[in-house]
This record gives sequence, structure tokens and C-alpha cells, in this order.
Amino acid sequence: MNVLVTGGAGYIGSHAVKYLQEKAGHQVVVVDNLSRGHRRAVKGEAILIVHELADWKHVARVMTNNQIECVMHFAAKAYVGESVERPLDYYSNNTADAVALLRAMDQAGVRKFVFSSTCATYGEPSDEHIPIGETCPQRPISPYGRSKLFVEQILRDYAASCGDFQYAMLRYFNVAGSDPNGEIGEDHDPETHLIPIILQAAAGLRPHIEIFGTDYATPDGTCVRDYVHVEDLIDAHMVAMEALTTDHPLVYNLGIGKGYSVREIIESARRVTGKAITIKEGPRRPGDPPRLFANPAKIKSDLGWQAKHTDIDDIVRTAWTWIQNHPHGYNGE
Ligand code: UDP
Repeated sequence: MNVLVTGGAGYIGSHAVKYLQEKAGHQVVVVDNLSRGHRRAVKGEAILIVHELADWKHVARVMTNNQIECVMHFAAKAYVGESVERPLDYYSNNTADAVALLRAMDQAGVRKFVFSSTCATYGEPSDEHIPIGETCPQRPISPYGRSKLFVEQILRDYAASCGDFQYAMLRYFNVAGSDPNGEIGEDHDPETHLIPIILQAAAGLRPHIEIFGTDYATPDGTCVRDYVHVEDLIDAHMVAMEALTTDHPLVYNLGIGKGYSVREIIESARRVTGKAITIKEGPRRPGDPPRLFANPAKIKSDLGWQAKHTDIDDIVRTAWTWIQNHPHGYNGE
């Protein structure tokens, strides 16, 4: 299939670009404005077009010229804290640009769409909704979560208006790890995610890891999250793409179904790296729910997907390989 990947120069998108080609022989065109992505992350024969999605007429021409059949939409801003400070950037990038992308698809006659949504659309679920299934009420507590939930709603309205649109909305939990060969990986500036920060501390690239809150109502007082390996995540996209139907949207939570605390992740990183990692205990980070982990049963029973990387050391090890190969990210290449 000819697949257009938006945000294909970013962390998750670049893994999609690689695996769509390597694992399934798809032809890939990337549209990325390189605001946060890296040219060097786009591997294989993929064509990289550096452009804004907002210019939908141009994007429509790209789709037509390359006979695109499906769009995987990863391009987005994804920092909860930043979204609180700069909400307009999030509604512009994540919501308005998704509308522009749909316009381009409409113009070019592309009818298949796989959307990166997020567990942040669930907000802070009450205990009876954990592990989190797809029917958990969606009450986002940040502009980031709302910017994605709006797109889910827009997709439903658009699909209802045309009848032949096929789409998936995949709600990610905490995406982690990297391609096991260490060729591509997570390179954010600034880095805010737990596993890369811990590993940077292990590699001596930062003095310590600060734990944001040690007084949560969790077994060891630190927040619990569901870390799903990026390769598994992209496998789920490919399975979903093959299963798209006009009958209904495919809506799935993507996680491993088990949560790890911040302290458990640090312990894992100590085992994997064999390095001492200095911890500082700090205050809570605003907006962090204590426990978030998925119930991934629906995608398993519908499509047969389940995460293969379920051992946290295995997930952390792939991220460590990337950092060892690229201590300064793509710019250090
Ligand atoms: N966290 C932390 N120290 C850090 C970065 C993250 O204690 O330097 C915690 C954060 O409070 C959350 C968990 O690690 O409980 C995962 O955070 P991350 O930013 O990786 O993902 P999020 O769950 O916010 O999407």
C-alpha cells in the first residue's frame, strides 16, 4: 500500500516509517515540518516532504501524486505541561491541522486513516475504571488531551457525513523503547519522558533523576504507568490498517495491561545499565494522575494484537541501546 505518514521524522512516526517498509513492504511518503522531528530519523526509501499540514491543498497534491491509499497521522505536540502553558499551539497543531489533513484526504479521495490518540483523553479515571478500557468516560484534564479528543469527535462527524471513510483511533499509553538495533530512537528537546531521562542519568549526561512525587496512593508512593514498546505500538497500527472497515471505527487502547511505578523503572534501569543512578525526590508534577494502565483485551480479541515486549527490562534495554549509540541524539551523528 502507499502510506502517507505525518510526523514521520518524530520518535513514534519514524518507527512507523521503518516498519511499514521493512515488515510489510509498504511505500511510504512522510510529511513533517521538522519542528520537532529529525531528517535523519526517516529511514529506508521513504520520501520526506518538509511541509506544514495546514497547507492542505499542497498536502492533497502530495497524496494524489503519490497515489496514497492510507494516512497514519502522528504529527502532533505531546507535552501535557506545555499544553497548559500554550493551549493555542496545541489546538492549532493537533486539532486544526488534523482538520486540514482531513480536507486534503477529502480532496484527494484518500479513505483510510489511522489516528494517534492518547490515554490523556481519559483524564483521571476513577478506580472502578482501572485498568482502563475503551468505554472509560473521556474527560481530559489538559489542553493536550482535549486537542486529541476533539479530533476523535471530528472524525466521527466526518465519517458519518461520507459513509465510505475507514478509520482507527488508537489511544496510546506510555510509548517507550526503540528499534532494537539502536538505529532510531527517542530524541526530544527538551526531554521530559521518564525512561530517557533515567537513562541519560545512567549515562552521565545528567546528574540525577528527580522523582515527581513520592506520596501518591500507590504501593511505593510513585506514579504507575503502562509502558508499551514502540515496535509493538507500530505493529498494532499495521494490524489496524489491514482491518479498517466502513462499518465502524476501530477504537483501541494500546498498552501492555500492566503498570510500573517510577521507582520500578529506575530499578529496571539500574539492572539493565549496571550503573549507579542518583535519585532526587521532588514534589508532584501538576496534572499527573497516580495510576494509568490499559485493559488491552479489546484489540486482542478483535484483531489478535498483544504486546510482545512485556518485560520492562527488555523495553528499557532497547532504549539504552539507542542512548549508547546516540548519546547526543541525531545531531551527534
Ligand atoms: N517522571 C518523573 N521524573 C521525570 C519525568 C517523569 O518522576 O523526570 C514521572 C512522571 O511524573 C510520571 C511518569 O514519570 O508519573 C511518566 O512520565 P512521562 O513524562 O514519561 O509520561 P506521561 O505519563 O506524563 O505521559
